[in-house]
Amino acid sequence: MIPAAFEYVRASSVDEALALLAEHGEDAKLLAGGHSLLPLMKLRLAVPSVLIDVGRLRELSFVDERDDHIAVGALTRHHDLDVSPVLRREVPLLSAAAHSIGDPQVRHRGTLGGSLAHADPASDLPAVALATRATLVVRGPAGERVIEADDFFRGFLETALEPGEILAEVRFPKLASAGWSFQKFTRRAQDWAIVGVAAVRNGTAGVALVNMGSTPVRAAAVEQALASGASVDEAASLAAEGTDPPGDLHAGPDFRAHLARVLVRRALEEASR
Ligand SMILES: Cc1cc2nc3c(=O)[nH]c(=O)nc-3n(C[C@H](O)[C@H](O)[C@H](O)COP(=O)(O)OP(=O)(O)OC[C@H]3O[C@@H](n4cnc5c(N)ncnc54)[C@H](O)[C@@H]3O)c2cc1C
Repeated sequence: MIPAAFEYVRASSVDEALALLAEHGEDAKLLAGGHSLLPLMKLRLAVPSVLIDVGRLRELSFVDERDDHIAVGALTRHHDLDVSPVLRREVPLLSAAAHSIGDPQVRHRGTLGGSLAHADPASDLPAVALATRATLVVRGPAGERVIEADDFFRGFLETALEPGEILAEVRFPKLASAGWSFQKFTRRAQDWAIVGVAAVRNGTAGVALVNMGSTPVRAAAVEQALASGASVDEAASLAAEGTDPPGDLHAGPDFRAHLARVLVRRALEEASR
């Protein structure tokens, strides 16, 4: 449980972090809250030669209300997502999901950008990004590009981020008038989800699942059924369609599929009130 030796360098601006990434190439890794990267390094599943610490970049820690969306800096910590009055009003699903993450220590270190860039299918915030149809703003050597959440999660712990790029900002549609629900079934309080559901009902429905495949996944069959006029019960019965739930010590694939159907029904009922 001791990481391989690495060089540590702290960036004092996004431009400096980009320059350091360019200088050190694919062996370098960004360090935000460290709550996903360091465990991987201790297991030697990640062996970066250089860690570029961006955790103190205040320019990437913000919640900004703009005309039609709320922009959240990638370095905004889970606790700040939880307590932000703007987010609690405009994107309450994000605040509720952040509040459910780990314990206070984890929430005071982990960041929105770290959670999305790590792309763990068992993490809560990727499902929120999918359900709300968030867009991700990435900066790199070629400038800035914007990626839809649907196009961001590519494979197990794999995203559309290219080497040398930093996730800078996440844009969430304003959802103050939408119904929403975050459901999380855990083995113990403050644990990772065995299965989770993020749901928004705003004319159309956005429903995404935690821990139901090798990537964060949208419950596409549920969304399509609702769009075609299906009842909540009918739509929820399709929650596991097209998913590939993992089996582990805590739950087998069949139990996860069952949980997804139950939690999606609860989420849709709550979001429909
Ligand atoms: C005990 C424990 C319990 C937890 N429980 C939960 C839980 O219940 N639910 C949940 O969702 N999560 C949980 N987590 C994970 C936690 O939320 C992490 O903080 C989060 O997943 C990663 O954020 P981080 O800032 O720590 O990222 P880091 O660990 O610093 O980085 C993770 C990865 O993202 C990359 N990265 C980080 N920031 C950027 C960026 N801006 N641009 C590009 N790449 C970047 C890094 O290079 C690295 O590859 C838990 C973690 C622990 C240790």
